[in-house]
Amino acid sequence: MQNHRPRKRFGQNFLRDAHIIDKIIAAVAPAPGQHIVEIGPGEGAITRGLVDSGTTFTALEIDRDLASRLRLEFGTAENFELVETDALTFDLAGLSAGGQRLRIVGNLPYNISTPLLFHLLQYTEIIDDLHFMLQKEVVERMSATVGSRNYGRLSIMVQYACEVTPLFPVPAGAFYPPPKVESAVLRLRPWRQLPHPAINHHHLGVLVNTAFQQRRKTVRNALKTIISEEALTSLGIDSKIRPENLSLEDFVNISNSLQTTHRQP
Ligand code: SAM
Repeated sequence: MQNHRPRKRFGQNFLRDAHIIDKIIAAVAPAPGQHIVEIGPGEGAITRGLVDSGTTFTALEIDRDLASRLRLEFGTAENFELVETDALTFDLAGLSAGGQRLRIVGNLPYNISTPLLFHLLQYTEIIDDLHFMLQKEVVERMSATVGSRNYGRLSIMVQYACEVTPLFPVPAGAFYPPPKVESAVLRLRPWRQLPHPAINHHHLGVLVNTAFQQRRKTVRNALKTIISEEALTSLGIDSKIRPENLSLEDFVNISNSLQTTHRQP
């Protein structure tokens, strides 16, 4: 078979390090009876370990050439299904028709990792967990705690929906071609019961966006088009702190207080 030439536009950096591949499979710990969905299997670096574990396995791959190679390599395995599709628009609900929750795994194309994540977060009801290889900086932002340098919109919106566990770093040399950035693997586990439920999730998103567009300003100034200083104070929030010092709970409290106000006659 001819060598595949990596395509930049599909964010193709293929894992070549057997030790890292084993570590990822061990972290996922696939077991028979589970349904695993791999996003962007590429040349199949982690696919073999997942398919051989006897899970029901679905691969979503956008690159037609890679899809046909994967079909050649895995097509005879009964538990293997390949969907040639764009994971950004793919409807996962069709895969859990029997009510079984999905486990998502992927060494993600870094150029689309954030929109892909937000797409997948729409399906938390039918997802057990997600294991992703991402740019290390994105993993740091997702797992950042309130008050830290990396804390922002991504930390809050991901932590709203999931428990976030960074697992281990992966050096650029583990890939071909090596990416320009360092990588890391993380686990996301959607909360079965949200710790801080928002009345209106869309409104929470708008609020968090607005706050972090002006991250150097005080909360009072950054949010002045949304909430008054008095209203912040009545929620027990010091309006002179910066948005990065507001916890997820604070953001949800602000958002919910406005929803309640708006609903009054
Ligand atoms: N999993 C392989 C590995 O670890 O070596 C490949 C990882 S490579 C970083 C990203 C993979 O995602 C490529 O196979 C690429 O073709 C695929 N891909 C890129 N954009 C995609 C999309 N929108 N939907 C599905 N797959 C995509």
